[in-house]
Amino acid sequence: MTSWLVRASLNQGCDPLTFTQYYWPDYRLWTQDVDRGFSQVNSDIQHDIEIMARIDTEVDVPATLIIFADNLGAEIKTQAAPIAWTQPLSKRNRTSQIGYPHCPECLEVGKNAYLKLSWRYSWVMYCTEHYLKLQSQCIYCDQPYQPQMLQAQARYLNRCHYCEQKLAVAAVSEIVHLLAYNFQQWAEQVWNVRQGWILEQQVSAGEWFNLVLFYVRLIRRAIKRPNHMFGLLLTYFGFKLDDEILETGATGLALDLLSIDDRVELFKRVYHLLEISPEQWLDGCAECGVSQNSFKWHKEFQVPAAFMPVFLQLPQKTKRSPQKQIQTINPKSSEAVKQSWARLQRKIKIREFYEQNLIRK
Ligand SMILES: [Zn+2]
Ligand SMILES: [Zn+2]
Repeated sequence: MTSWLVRASLNQGCDPLTFTQYYWPDYRLWTQDVDRGFSQVNSDIQHDIEIMARIDTEVDVPATLIIFADNLGAEIKTQAAPIAWTQPLSKRNRTSQIGYPHCPECLEVGKNAYLKLSWRYSWVMYCTEHYLKLQSQCIYCDQPYQPQMLQAQARYLNRCHYCEQKLAVAAVSEIVHLLAYNFQQWAEQVWNVRQGWILEQQVSAGEWFNLVLFYVRLIRRAIKRPNHMFGLLLTYFGFKLDDEILETGATGLALDLLSIDDRVELFKRVYHLLEISPEQWLDGCAECGVSQNSFKWHKEFQVPAAFMPVFLQLPQKTKRSPQKQIQTINPKSSEAVKQSWARLQRKIKIREFYEQNLIRK
C-alpha cells in the first residue's frame, strides 16, 4: 500500500501527503501504517491507485499485512495491535521512527521501483535477487528511510526524504551470513506452500513459525544464563555462548522490533537448531538434565505443537541433587539494567532523528 500510494503520487507529480489529502480528506492516512490495509478505501479508489501506480492488478503476494497475518493464523486483537512477524514502522504523526526496509538495488530502477511488502516480514533480511542485506536507513544521513515523506521533486521512490540523496548500498550490506540467508530461504518456502517439515513431521506454516519463536526464546534464555541447563544444552549442540553472542539483541526487545543485524544473529542460530533431529534433542536434553518441567517458563507458556515429538519423549521431571540454589531476590540483575540502558539509548536515537525532521520542517 505504501508503495502504491507513493508511486501513484510521484507519478502524478505531487507529494504523497497532498495526494492522500486530495483523495481522502477525512483521514490522516500517513499517521497510520497503510500497509496493514485500510477499510476506508473502497474498491474503486483502490483500482484507480493500481492504475496510477502502474502495477498489475494481479499480485501474488498478499496486498496487505492484515491478509498476511490471516494466512499465518496470527490473531490481531485490536486495529492498532502489532502484527506478528512483521516489522512495525512506529509512527509518530507522519514520521516513522523505524525506516522502511528496502534493497537500494531493487529501487535503482527508478520509475518502475516499488517497495515489496515482503521486506516488512521479520524473517526477511536479505534481497535474494541482489544478494544484499536490506537497509532501513539512508547511508548518507542515517535518517530512517521514509518514502511517505518524499517531496514531489524526488520523482522516484529511491531518494532519501531528508538529504535527498539517491539511496545507495552500504558496504556492510554486502556481507551475507549464509546461515541467516538459508534460514530466510527456508522460512520463505514454508510461507509460500503454507506448510513445513520439521522434527520428522509435517506442520502448518503457523506451527513452523511458532517453533521458530520458541527457538528464539530458548536461545535468548541460554545467552542470559550460559551455565544453566539451556545454556549447557546449546553448548552441547555446538553453540559458543561467548561474549560476542551476549550482545545479540542487547535491548531485549521483541523479535519484530529488532534491527536487521540483531535478527541475523538470532536467525542464524535458529537455523542451527532447526537442523537438529529429534534423537539429537533427546540425547542433549538427557545430558543436560532437561525435562518437561524445565519448559514451564511461566504460567501461560505452552510448548509449541511442532516441538511435541521431542517434548513428549522427555521425562516429566529430573531428580535434582539437593543442591542449594542461590537466588538473587529484589535487586535488578545487571542484565536487566543493561537491557533497559540499551533500550533508553535506542529511544534517544529515535528521538534525535524525529527532532532533526521537525527542525528541518
Ligand atoms: Zn534487491
Ligand atoms: Zn539521507
